[in-house]
Amino acid sequence: MSMLSVRDLHVSYGAIKAVKGISFDIEQGEIVTLIGANGAGKSTTLNTIAGLIKPASGQIEYKGESLVGIKPHKIVERGLALCPEGRRVFTHMTVAENLEMGGYTRTDDENAKTLEIVYEHFPRLKERVNQQAGTLSGGEQQMLAMGRALMSKPELLMLDEPSMGLAPILVDEIFEIIEALNKKNGTTILLVEQNANMALSIANRAYVLETGTIAKSGTGEELLKDDDVRKAYLGG
Ligand code: ATP
Repeated sequence: MSMLSVRDLHVSYGAIKAVKGISFDIEQGEIVTLIGANGAGKSTTLNTIAGLIKPASGQIEYKGESLVGIKPHKIVERGLALCPEGRRVFTHMTVAENLEMGGYTRTDDENAKTLEIVYEHFPRLKERVNQQAGTLSGGEQQMLAMGRALMSKPELLMLDEPSMGLAPILVDEIFEIIEALNKKNGTTILLVEQNANMALSIANRAYVLETGTIAKSGTGEELLKDDDVRKAYLGG
């Protein structure tokens, strides 16, 4: 049994069909990436899994149980967290307060321990505990958004465009942290990215989303070498 299994998922916004019957699986311990152009339906897929959007039809099973119709906070309690596109940190709160919000489904004892793990992965956040989140750099805000998601102790972490808008050196840093979360923490990762090159480099497996359908799938390595993928997403 897969950790996450998505079957024939359809999601619409009114008359707009954003996701048109996609199926994919994630095994425990994997990094799986969904790549694709703007508007392909990547964010819609993550937001639907997280319970923020109700699918028109299809199945989403996490550890053998359906997530369809389950409230977002209950999904977080089951061990599945989303780090949303555009970071969405609470700008008027401090770093510490943002992290505390992320741990709201856990006990104080658990949060104290998880905080140490978050600071190990993001030492820069530890240096800035009392800084207002809105005054952090883009890269630091991304780290905070990831740290906040980690506070819920997810077994499966969904990351929506973590590299968006970041300088190349920070992109490298964020991808290294994602790999470390997977390798050291054992966190399973579902990564949505427009930076296909980086995403495929760290992913065990990948799915290419095109206008709401899965056009291709394979290992990260296979898709990095694939001619169509190279032309469409890797600049030739
Ligand atoms: P991006 O990287 O630009 O976010 P994406 O692959 O994540 O792209 P989605 O954001 O999932 O794509 O969008 C898929 C389709 O659904 C697009 O055609 C988009 O315009 C449409 N869409 C997304 N959100 C809404 C919404 N709230 N209302 C109406 N249409 C929407």
